[in-house]
Amino acid sequence: MINELLPGVYVHTSHIQKLQSVVLVDEKAVYVFDPCYFPDEINEIRELARSFETPNREKYLVLTHSDFDHIAGVHEFPEYKVIASSAWDESNEVHSIEKIEQFDSEFYVDREWTGKMPRVPMGDKVNHGQQKGEMTFYHAKGHTWDGLVTIYGQTAIVGDYLSAVEFPFVYTSYRAYMDTLTMFSQIFETHSIDTVITQHGPAALDKTEIQRRIDLSRDYLKRAVELVGEGMERGLSTEKIIEMGADFQYEAQPIAIGILNFHIKNIKLIHQELTQ
Ligand SMILES: [Zn+2]
Repeated sequence: MINELLPGVYVHTSHIQKLQSVVLVDEKAVYVFDPCYFPDEINEIRELARSFETPNREKYLVLTHSDFDHIAGVHEFPEYKVIASSAWDESNEVHSIEKIEQFDSEFYVDREWTGKMPRVPMGDKVNHGQQKGEMTFYHAKGHTWDGLVTIYGQTAIVGDYLSAVEFPFVYTSYRAYMDTLTMFSQIFETHSIDTVITQHGPAALDKTEIQRRIDLSRDYLKRAVELVGEGMERGLSTEKIIEMGADFQYEAQPIAIGILNFHIKNIKLIHQELTQ
């Protein structure tokens, strides 16, 4: 399913984790972000992108980070130049490729290649604050080490941050994640951002909703850190801290069972980080 969210900005929602792939077209270029995941979906995204291709438009494939659900479609766009963070995490990429192989062989997903997926054909690695055409790129760490945020006009495409369907998944560092939230407030102000396209679930379409999501993420992390801190003061093990926080809520709801493991991993990681 593809919707035109804004003039020239199209969003495709995947059957998996509501992943939002973006096709963005302006006079100079066609940009595809995180084409995901199943072959028929990737094909739909590719067909739309193809309809905008002209001899004088550049073609770019932007990867918001190296997690498996975001990179599975890269080889279906061989004529597109890949843009990713200069902090691109190769070991996470390799891990993601294994995960794609695992997922595809478990759920019988056929692709144009068989067996192992080839590595990502890296094009331009961009630095924090770098500009390219109409785009400005920023690094966003915390979920992974290689998150890339793209600013286009008053729209930000932010990867797996500020989602309306999931709490912060912290794979690398809660401190870095907190810094990223602070950075969002700063760069959104600088660029007068009024639309945030997150890669899981619906976009935030006004400044109030954007601020609400920043606050929600910050509040979740703050409470998780408080929980761990309290457990540490009592000399509890990680397991006991998790038990103590069994009634932890997000948006006034218990954490859904399907993503509870990410919350538990967050608590473990925060505990580790606070002990260091
Ligand atoms: Zn993701």
